[in-house]
Amino acid sequence: MMLANGGVLGLIYRDLPAALRPSARSWQAGTLLNAAGCALCAFQSQLPLVPLVTAANGLILFGLTIYWRSLQQFYDLPAQPWQYLPAIGGTLAVFWFSAFHPDTTIRIVLISMAWLILMGGCVSILTGRTRRDTARSRQMLLALFIAIMVLTAFRAVFFVAAGVPADFSIADNASWMNLASPLVSAIMPVIGTTAFALMCSERLRRQWERAASTDYLTGLANRRTLTETGQHRFQQSRIRDGGIALALIDIDNFKSINDQYGHEAGDLALKQVAACLRTEVGLADILARTGGEEFVVLLGETEPGQAQLTAERLRLAVQRHSFILRGAHLPLTVSVGIAVSRAGDTDFDSLLRRADQAMYAAKAGGRNRIELAA
Ligand code: GH3
Ligand code: MG
Ligand code: MG
Repeated sequence: MMLANGGVLGLIYRDLPAALRPSARSWQAGTLLNAAGCALCAFQSQLPLVPLVTAANGLILFGLTIYWRSLQQFYDLPAQPWQYLPAIGGTLAVFWFSAFHPDTTIRIVLISMAWLILMGGCVSILTGRTRRDTARSRQMLLALFIAIMVLTAFRAVFFVAAGVPADFSIADNASWMNLASPLVSAIMPVIGTTAFALMCSERLRRQWERAASTDYLTGLANRRTLTETGQHRFQQSRIRDGGIALALIDIDNFKSINDQYGHEAGDLALKQVAACLRTEVGLADILARTGGEEFVVLLGETEPGQAQLTAERLRLAVQRHSFILRGAHLPLTVSVGIAVSRAGDTDFDSLLRRADQAMYAAKAGGRNRIELAA
């Protein structure tokens, strides 16, 4: 089953975007190493003990290390050279305590400790502060790692407490632990691989959702998001007998900036205006880039006088902001059209149209000013 799961991951590998492939490759390698280690254990009665236990445990330890690396790659974290030490130390210890001082109890304790360190590394990545997303698949994988850590610790304590007979073999049914151990070893390669694949698909879904709802250049909401949110708020306001208001903000004479500095510099200026508006608007209100040099804010204030005050504050913020382009200060201003919903409005678009007309009135009135739609 482990091999089959590793194989499935190999088959879907090409469906993954380039950014996720190194992580998926590592997870697959980890699964195959685990599978190989477990497969070796099955031959305990046919093969000489020392090379067998050393190789089997080494494969599993390096498999776990590579799971850890896979999660680092998934979250774009750097590798740490010392993270290979538990696997190297664990393998050497198994060799020492099977070849020179044969002691099964010490072997089990040391291997368990190495497992706990390696899985602790995985847990710390999955619980990292920057990864507090709500993805169920990440939580599932985290729960699996914690469960295996608990079982590993329990297994070590069990063998220390119950003692290990001199003729102990893990390949017979003399101890019920010999049934439980392979089941525990199989959890991560089998169920964990499913959780990992779901994490990949969840990451993709998120990326597509973000790409579909935001403006690539500025990271603000795009027209689609604005329309969806606007329509929703419009309908809600109808139910509540309230209103909604919006401000349409257009940069003045922006074409001249492109003409003077070039399109790329114009893009930089657009980003700076977006950042300036974002700071001024706050996170509660929706701010979208709806066209080339045009932005829309869904205002929290729905009373015309209040909406005008907010729009004026935004206009002043842009006028006073120090935009820097190619080391030079760049004066920028905006013209703002404000629309507040009224009884005759049938939908959100009619509000947008009126704000657009008001914005053109502000342009006609001399630019760098606000205008309230009639
Ligand atoms: P007005 O004060 O009347 O609004 O003048 P304006 O020059 O800002 O308006 P106009 O509609 O004539 O030109 C808008 C310009 O915005 C045209 C285009 O070159 C520029 N523009 C639109 N989208 C982008 C963009 O994504 N990047 C850059 N750099 N420029 C853009
Ligand atoms: Mg303009
Ligand atoms: Mg425009």
